[in-house]
Amino acid sequence: MTTNRGRKGVIRKRMTSTGESYVVAARNLKSMKDMGATREAVVTQRWQPAETLDVPCPCGGTCEPGEKCDHCHARHRHVARYPGSRTEVEIWADRYDCMGCASTYTILVELPDRPWGIAETVVQGASAEPVVKARVFPGVKHPLLRPETPEED
Ligand SMILES: [Zn+2]
Ligand SMILES: [Zn+2]
Repeated sequence: MTTNRGRKGVIRKRMTSTGESYVVAARNLKSMKDMGATREAVVTQRWQPAETLDVPCPCGGTCEPGEKCDHCHARHRHVARYPGSRTEVEIWADRYDCMGCASTYTILVELPDRPWGIAETVVQGASAEPVVKARVFPGVKHPLLRPETPEED
């Protein structure tokens, strides 16, 4: 529970410097953190593939080098990244396209510092079973989940 104690310390510090109550300070800190994480996640997803393989991949060097193509012997290039799981927010899918032909493949990578959303445990349904639900950060495109929208009524 070290992390929890550390977090409380951070909240207390903010209370002293801003005069906010514990709840307000905690909420403000959380939204700051969420905003930071949201920005990181959007940056992690939004970049343009490199023109050549001579330059570092614009994704931030968080990918594997592209494999050599079996068909045309050109190399694959990292071209896209999107969330790679419905519930594991640290799993991204990296797509690689061959620079010489239409060959393409996707691999999953784990980026613990760059989650694409927040995983929450919610109790759902008649059985009241707790399930993990991921909330996608605004601005991140998820191929399987919709961005957070207000509850429809
Ligand atoms: Zn890359
Ligand atoms: Zn090829």
